[in-house]
Amino acid sequence: MAVPKRKTTPSRRNMRRAHDALVATATNECPNCGEIKRPHHICASCGHYDGREVIEAEGSL
Ligand SMILES: [Zn+2]
Repeated sequence: MAVPKRKTTPSRRNMRRAHDALVATATNECPNCGEIKRPHHICASCGHYDGREVIEAEGSL
């Protein structure tokens, strides 16, 4: 089994983790009901997409 020759220093470890930060998900306002929705996704509260209702509003879910 391959084994690391040297212990990873806290500096190296932290440099590796410098790019691991989480990014906030993008949000858009639904033009039909004003609810916050994900871009390019059907609105979860009114079921609209591209100016028309594509699925029934799922308020019960
Ligand atoms: Zn909506």
